Amino acid sequence: MHEMTVNRRLFFNQNCNLCLLHPQTRAGLCHRCLADMPRIAPACHRCALPLEGTDGLICGRCQKRPPPFDHTFAAFAYRFPLSQLIPLIKYQGQTGHLGWLADSLACALQDYTGALPQVLIPIPLAPSRLRRRGYNQAALLAGRLGRQLGIPTDLHNLAKPRETAHQMELKGEARRRNLRGAFNWHDPAYDHVALIDDVMTTGTTVSEISRLLKKSGIRRVDIWVLARTPSPGEH
Ligand SMILES: [Zn+2]
Ligand SMILES: [Zn+2]
Repeated sequence: MHEMTVNRRLFFNQNCNLCLLHPQTRAGLCHRCLADMPRIAPACHRCALPLEGTDGLICGRCQKRPPPFDHTFAAFAYRFPLSQLIPLIKYQGQTGHLGWLADSLACALQDYTGALPQVLIPIPLAPSRLRRRGYNQAALLAGRLGRQLGIPTDLHNLAKPRETAHQMELKGEARRRNLRGAFNWHDPAYDHVALIDDVMTTGTTVSEISRLLKKSGIRRVDIWVLARTPSPGEH
């Protein structure tokens, strides 16, 4: 390969993180891949599920039974390629993808006009799971996002002292029971926080944590995730 081509590749022409073919345009992706990313639009402001046949910003389900969190923002729908990428990040150590995914979330949040949280709080892993995996992908995501947006990350005040059964293996009430009392909150004086996670499926985990945080006096809890499962029963 000739020197100029090598130099161009090394120093200027960063290619798209997904197709590796075309130059990056925004958030680490080329035009085409960015346009093809799966999104939920329009999405409920409260839970980020599709707004189907509802006037306004809040879905019928949230109007009937408001969740304990105030706002959910998901950059993408949990479909291809996220459904391939996120398991690679979580279980195969391919954390390099978190960089451009965090940048995509930060980019999408630039259009968000609501009040920003004082602090980002990643959903913690139990110490035994963290030791096995070697990293918490939600904490890596929160760190990069916080640096991009200029918001501090709190890694210490929310903890999960013991491991619980995998939420994916449980249904409905069993999911809620599984997480009851699973998290500890050390109660620093915050007014508005955002919980950070890679994927939001049924919302049971973020609901459990939001209840705990609200009980301690936090006025507003937002949820920011890379991807939202478009229908809670879908995996
Ligand atoms: Zn591409
Ligand atoms: Zn909703």
